[in-house]
Amino acid sequence: MTISKQKPTVDVFEQLESEVRSYSRSFPTVFEKAQGYKLWDTSNESYIDFFSGAGALNYGHNNAAMQQKMIEYIQSNGLLHSLDMGTIPRAEFLQEFNDVILKPRDMDYKVMFPGPTGTNSVESALKIARKVTGREKVVTFTNAFHGMTIGALSVTGNAFKRGGAGIPLNHSIAMPYDEYIEGQDSLAFLEKSLEDGGSGIEIPAAVILETVQGEGGINAASFEWLQKVEALCRRFDILLIVDDVQAGCGRTGTFFSFEPAGIKPDVICLSKSISGSGLPMAITLIKPEYDKWGPGEHNGTFRGNNLAFITATEALTYWKNSKFSQSIQEKSKMIKQQLTNFTTVYPELEAEVRGRGLMLGLACGKKEMANKIAEVAFTKGLVIETSGPDDEVLKLLPPLIIDEEGITQGLDIIEESIKEVLAKEEA
Ligand SMILES: *Cc1c(COP(=O)(O)O)cnc(C)c1O
Repeated sequence: MTISKQKPTVDVFEQLESEVRSYSRSFPTVFEKAQGYKLWDTSNESYIDFFSGAGALNYGHNNAAMQQKMIEYIQSNGLLHSLDMGTIPRAEFLQEFNDVILKPRDMDYKVMFPGPTGTNSVESALKIARKVTGREKVVTFTNAFHGMTIGALSVTGNAFKRGGAGIPLNHSIAMPYDEYIEGQDSLAFLEKSLEDGGSGIEIPAAVILETVQGEGGINAASFEWLQKVEALCRRFDILLIVDDVQAGCGRTGTFFSFEPAGIKPDVICLSKSISGSGLPMAITLIKPEYDKWGPGEHNGTFRGNNLAFITATEALTYWKNSKFSQSIQEKSKMIKQQLTNFTTVYPELEAEVRGRGLMLGLACGKKEMANKIAEVAFTKGLVIETSGPDDEVLKLLPPLIIDEEGITQGLDIIEESIKEVLAKEEA
């Protein structure tokens, strides 16, 4: 006998889940399936994904090769959980990451597995910087986002998120990010403060930055600015931490977002798309001379997600030649061009285009516009979010594997949504 089970509705989230839930509010449906750049809900409505799990699904949903490898491993009774004990998937990931990513880039780093999230990687980076320098403060930048645990939150800019801590968030110094005040040299004050014993600003343990600020509004730092930050760090023996949790793993067109700037961070945080499949995983890359941890000094129960290691290793096949990287740049160009068209065809948006690679934004000067566009777009079958301090930026983060058809469909929905929102404004 088969009992037909009714599919759940969004009511269950409203009734049973905490008020803290957010994306089920932005995308009010129950999703059932996903493949590549598409999602389907329980009513079999399909959606184009311009969100990619906030950057955790750079290779799309349910990649067939990754699925196959996971199934084989599970059926062979491979270990799923193993703390940081030695397992085959862990060894294979380390070897492949070294061979495909680090070595060809002439990068000499130790790989640390912190807990399985981005904020874990950031916490470990802050700790090791403080440990090796013996200093306390960390310089962060306006509109930075580094995660929700107390250390990561202390270097995050957003006032609402900071407020959630309920305690003072100390030990950090916020400085202006590139172009924070248009036309001003945003590093002049930092440089002078470090030089000047009377500035009241201590020499920090580290500087932490995103090369493209994801949650902060798709602000892309210039390569020149990044190089200047690095030079300042070198001059004052400050560790440079690049939080590549969102901008890394190919999001901006190269595996690491900082590659075209030619900088060599001391510590690099990766998470979101490092597993390639959306499974939780994070790594912290540390220059060998700063790898001064004692065994177990920063540990965690979930540092041995073997399924994540398996899909992470499989994801690296995309990086064995330069084709994938080139394809990201081509897709980026295509989207940028259309977004630029929108800024001229719809001047009422007072919009500008931001970002690099497939981390792009349409920053709307007109209030509430971006949110309204995203809301309408969802009803038309596009999953897309906003970012920035006032949610003023429509944030385009399609999976890197998206094809031309998917891009066109997504952009068409954005344009229809812009038209609809503007028509409503006029009425
Ligand atoms: C998402 C994000 C984090 C936090 O990662 P979680 O896995 O949510 O803890 C940290 N830094 C950046 C730049 C991020 O985008």
